[in-house]
Amino acid sequence: MKHGKPLTRHTPLSAQTELKSKASLQRGVGPRRKKALRSRSKKTERRYVLRRALVDDLLAERPWCEIRWDEGCTGRAVDVDEVLSRGRGGDYLDPENCQTPCRYCHDKKHTEPAEALDRGVAAASRGRRAA
Ligand SMILES: [Zn+2]
Repeated sequence: MKHGKPLTRHTPLSAQTELKSKASLQRGVGPRRKKALRSRSKKTERRYVLRRALVDDLLAERPWCEIRWDEGCTGRAVDVDEVLSRGRGGDYLDPENCQTPCRYCHDKKHTEPAEALDRGVAAASRGRRAA
């Protein structure tokens, strides 16, 4: 590539070769996708169906808050939370990795992650325990 004067905002662009495609960049013109992209893959969709069933089962079997952060705890489990988060490799379909907190304790767990690690209601990563 030859180096000349630096481009400025008003330097006209000059193409060395013809563009191969003449597709219009206008919205709604040209080849269009017939169906919308899936928001979730079929595999993920199947896992979410299983997750939904697991959440219903766990909340029925374990209706009381399993974190009990402090006196703000309402006692009634409304969420299913993963001890080892999905982002850290936790499986949200593994009942062993799930706990049923009330909303108050669930919020506390996520707003105070260091304290959550100390209390053992969160895990740092797969196979590791809080020190
Ligand atoms: Zn609670």
